[in-house]
Amino acid sequence: MNFSERMKKLAETDKEALELIQLELQRQEDGLEMIPSENFVSMAVMEAMGSVFTNKYSEGYPGKRYYGGNEFVDKAENLAIERAKRAFNVPRANVQPYSGTPANFAVYLATCQPADVIMGQALPDGGHLTHGWKTSFSGIFYKPVQYHVKQDGYIDFDEARRLALAHRPKLIWVGASAYVRQFPFKEMAEIADEVGAYLAADVAHVSGLIIGGAHPSPAPYCHIITTTTHKTLRGPRGAIIMTTEKGLQKDPELAERIDKAVFPGLQGGPHDHQTAAIAAALKEALKPEFKEYAHQIVRNSKALATELMKNGMKLVSNGTDNHLMLVDLTTVAKGHGVFAQEALETAGITVNKNTIPHDPSSPFYPSGVRLGTPALTTRGMKEEEMTAIAKWVAEATRETEKYRLPAEKSEIAEYVKGAKREIRENAALKRINTEVREMCRHFPLYTDGTI
Ligand SMILES: *Cc1c(COP(=O)(O)O)cnc(C)c1O
Repeated sequence: MNFSERMKKLAETDKEALELIQLELQRQEDGLEMIPSENFVSMAVMEAMGSVFTNKYSEGYPGKRYYGGNEFVDKAENLAIERAKRAFNVPRANVQPYSGTPANFAVYLATCQPADVIMGQALPDGGHLTHGWKTSFSGIFYKPVQYHVKQDGYIDFDEARRLALAHRPKLIWVGASAYVRQFPFKEMAEIADEVGAYLAADVAHVSGLIIGGAHPSPAPYCHIITTTTHKTLRGPRGAIIMTTEKGLQKDPELAERIDKAVFPGLQGGPHDHQTAAIAAALKEALKPEFKEYAHQIVRNSKALATELMKNGMKLVSNGTDNHLMLVDLTTVAKGHGVFAQEALETAGITVNKNTIPHDPSSPFYPSGVRLGTPALTTRGMKEEEMTAIAKWVAEATRETEKYRLPAEKSEIAEYVKGAKREIRENAALKRINTEVREMCRHFPLYTDGTI
């Protein structure tokens, strides 16, 4: 059955919405999805997500609900909890957070008072908004101190330890959105234990790699683990908060306090259709094939990094240990990410512009591009495809070399608009787009029921 047959009712009732869904499907099928935080869920996960559980209210937790009729919701939530505990080797799990950001907010509510000191990796150095960045609740309601990465791309432990001893944070985060090396759970645990802080691992990006054995587990070292479910884990949008044995030893009430922080602290009724889909995704992630998937993501990533460097591109930290890499475009010009992103999009390759450590430009016009392999690997692509993709990425980026952000701030927006218009008409990029589509045809997604 193809995709549009599944949407017969929508075709009858709302052609406008249906058309947009079909256009988005076409976009996903025709392009190379290289945003490292994205993935393609299976049809099975999508079916669970599109199920009647969306009709239910079930504030509370299994066995302790405020509404009736929750017999099967309770079972579905317990199924997701049990699978999460098995997947991450932890004693407690909460599967209700709507997404990664509210999951992290719940961790603050459970462990800190407003205005307490907290510590995380700085956003321009790859950290996440919710780890203390000034524009996020985490930097508004709490007092953040931020650690950084060194010139070589690795976390600066000396700085992190110095900051922790000087400021005594209540909560320390390890985990990031744009970090190309393995997360140093053990080293950060030594720092957290020294100052008596809670250590929370935010493994949103690498949770699929952890389950598949392609990245070390934080469970022995951290008190709390949070993860989104829609990145390498390949589930629906959502999140899980886990309490480890070490967390329960530090604070036997920790798991209950996290549950209370999620509901009633931060959320109302859980999204039960999302919970059912998380259960379905975890079932897939616990299969032996998923181990192979996780390792192939990393093999593809390393192959792509090597080939990009062979094609003359500079990478932060000169490579990668995980599913993503950061292209350093300062060799072309500072703030060049915006042009590269547009050129790659014109070529059919979706990436995001990103800051690089010690970026000489601003977060809105950063000097890097972030690339990852989870979605390509889900389509079945391997090292051979990475070689071809690296050539296209390098060639497309070279097409933008003549563009320079104006020094005068007020002129930037207008200049960028003009440059983008030109980039979208670039013949070399259009040619790459044709080649990209041709490759994508060999790795079909939903249209032929492949995944
Ligand atoms: C993606 C991400 C989040 C937030 O997830 P959302 O679902 O977008 O709110 C949190 N932490 C890290 C490290 C992430 O990469």
